[in-house]
Amino acid sequence: MIIDGKKEAALLREEIKKEILLIKSKDNKIPELTVILVGNFAPSQIYVSNKEKSSKEVGINSNVIKYSKDVTEEEIIKKIKELNNDVNVSGILVQLPLPVQIDKEKIINTIDPLKDVDGFNPINVGNLASGYRAIVPCTPLGSLLLIKSVEKNLSGKHAVIVGRSNLNGKPMAQLLLKENCTVTIVHSKTKDLKKECQKGDIVVAAVGVANLIKEDWVKKGSIIIDVGINKVDKNIVGDVDFEKVKDKVKAITPVPGGVGPMTIACLLKNTVECFKKQNS
Ligand code: NAP
Repeated sequence: MIIDGKKEAALLREEIKKEILLIKSKDNKIPELTVILVGNFAPSQIYVSNKEKSSKEVGINSNVIKYSKDVTEEEIIKKIKELNNDVNVSGILVQLPLPVQIDKEKIINTIDPLKDVDGFNPINVGNLASGYRAIVPCTPLGSLLLIKSVEKNLSGKHAVIVGRSNLNGKPMAQLLLKENCTVTIVHSKTKDLKKECQKGDIVVAAVGVANLIKEDWVKKGSIIIDVGINKVDKNIVGDVDFEKVKDKVKAITPVPGGVGPMTIACLLKNTVECFKKQNS
């Protein structure tokens, strides 16, 4: 089975739309997402305009603040502090990557954890690691929802996560631990990647190497989530050799059309979650 990320994301957006209508009728308020975009890096501009469009579609107020690539770190920090204190702003997202003069860590640490829609602030990272209620990074959250669209009960499953980034691999591991999976994280220094992947009832690939995961790396009947986005000639492909793997496994996400759409839908979900935390 091929997991239809576009369909799952559309279902999630419908749920969010309904929730926003309810908030509007109950509290006469509308959640608002503010995105800070620095410079003119083309992919970032595309991501931000997609986020803006999706926010508006579900009824979230969207606000994009643009800065030139020469902006100072102090200026961005001052703006984030202003947004932290603005009761109309539910979520703050600073689009990465940032120019070299700006310290990403300082920026992430300045965002109020209650408005941290990306879930990157150490308070949210710590809450997730402790098994507490946290704002969870959008891509792993979307990946989990896709896994659960195939199988509700993940207890006892062996999940193998390829990649250990703060953005993907580590939060994915925490989410799957919370689902009572046995979790293995593998990375570039892992001795026998193939052997480790073969153990996975679930394999999440978040690497950035085109077609790394081959047919003989995966177990029959497993669930494969491909987070990777890689450009090969003019095509976008994932980290999994999709054509060869798809008939062997129980379920697999395509690239594009798998995790990508769910990532944006989860950003909207997180914006509503932040709104609710601030208003509870
Ligand atoms: P990242 O920070 O570069 O991390 C990549 C991870 O993969 C690292 O842990 C690295 O190991 C590991 N790795 C690299 N080469 C490897 C190899 N040959 N074998 C085993 N492990 C290897 O990347 P990221 O930000 O997590 O993103 C991963 C991929 O997901 C990228 O293609 C990115 O574009 C994509 N992505 C997609 C979405 C979406 O919405 N679909 C969102 C975000 C990212 P070390 O730690 O040892 O270096």
